[in-house]
Amino acid sequence: MKKVVKFGGSSLASAEQFEKVGKIIKADPDRVYVVPSAPGKRFDDDTKVTDMLLHAYESANNGVDIADEMKAIKVRYDEIITGLGLDFSLDEDFKEIEATLRENPQSDFAASRGEFLNGKIMACYLGATFIDAAEVIYFNEEGNLNDYKTYRKLRERLAECETAVIPGFYGMGKDGNVKTFSRGGSDVTGSIVARASKADVYENWTDVSGFLVTDPRIVDNPEPIKYITYRELRELSYMGASVLHEDAIFPVRHCGIPINIRNTNAPEDPGTWIVESTCQKQDHVITGIAGKKDFCTIFITKAMMNAEIGFGRKVLQAFEENNISFEHMPSGIDTMTIVVHADEFIDKEQSVVSSIHRLAEPDSVEIEAGLALIAVVGRGMKSASGTAGKLFTALAKEGINIKMIDQGSSELNIIIGVQNKDFDTAIRAIYKTFIK
Ligand code: ADP
Ligand code: ASP
Ligand code: MG
Repeated sequence: MKKVVKFGGSSLASAEQFEKVGKIIKADPDRVYVVPSAPGKRFDDDTKVTDMLLHAYESANNGVDIADEMKAIKVRYDEIITGLGLDFSLDEDFKEIEATLRENPQSDFAASRGEFLNGKIMACYLGATFIDAAEVIYFNEEGNLNDYKTYRKLRERLAECETAVIPGFYGMGKDGNVKTFSRGGSDVTGSIVARASKADVYENWTDVSGFLVTDPRIVDNPEPIKYITYRELRELSYMGASVLHEDAIFPVRHCGIPINIRNTNAPEDPGTWIVESTCQKQDHVITGIAGKKDFCTIFITKAMMNAEIGFGRKVLQAFEENNISFEHMPSGIDTMTIVVHADEFIDKEQSVVSSIHRLAEPDSVEIEAGLALIAVVGRGMKSASGTAGKLFTALAKEGINIKMIDQGSSELNIIIGVQNKDFDTAIRAIYKTFIK
């Protein structure tokens, strides 16, 4: 058996947390490749090292002296090194990083150093080989992963090491500069390492006991999900369940490696298994609930719309011309609604409306902001009847007006739109109805 283990920021925020992580790794000799994040928050109001580094970059870029900021970051690492009793120093690395930030400030380089430095400490602590992610993970010109080069290089290097630490979150850009994934991207690195090493399991260790049915910041102590499929997870993480980076499933999904989400602070908990397919019986009809606020709707009417060939294409062309991607498109006989992210749309709203008029000649176009979307996801919905009815009753009981409904033809999810202000209440009502 071979396991790749990724530890998130809060799992590595202090020496005490590092010790927990060390114990977890040593408890199972199959845990051979380790992907660490940068030190995260030690307490609620704390700052993640990644954010401190990005701030230092801003300062350097604005010509402000960064000596004090870099010192504060170094304190975070030195506390970990001393707390672990390691005979190890990052003094030289800090000198180099500070000099680079002064001479040629780059935000991705700055952000990536959080993982780079934590990886060095981790490798020393475990007695494992340190592999700089910039030497094994490559991006292409478009900024996406260069699969071919990455897997070839990474396989080569991993084959040389019995155990290794590969820092998360970054790699090498096409221009020869360090480049990061989007925030939370260490999850993606873990997945890439799992695929490259043909691991049996990708363990993703965080600060909750698995993927929870819904966001613990909205519902108190939601149940953890025992088994969830890649497809269900994709729906939930796309819709805002932030425990795992939304791109993290692609590399492992490709070769069917399961992801096991685990809690560093409660290692005995089984966590969540994210799998390709499962026969495990589910406790509930639905698997999870997630959602996002701040969408806009563009409501279009035209008599005989249903008979006009090419109408939908013309409307979507208006969005394409304005470089806006759309989320959903529920439609009626003479009506069509396009749902888009507010932040992509607001500045271009009038341009989009006039493009729709020019291209599709509708009777009317109305736009509205303040829509929240909630996805209720579950492979069990396919074989259960009455799910939608139960869902709508739950919301009606709370006096919540449903602005939009969209059920995917895969019967894997139902998406409903409510006003932003009803978002939390709606999620709690759905949880209460379907879970407890
Ligand atoms: P890490 O630093 O380990 O990568 P993250 O902060 O990225 O951890 O993700 C874990 C956090 O995700 C949890 O502490 C929780 O607040 C949040 N979260 C949001 N939705 C969910 C969910 N459905 N299940 C579990 N955690 C969730
Ligand atoms: N440290 C990075 C962040 O804060 C990446 C990660 O944690 O996965 O976004
Ligand atoms: Mg994360």
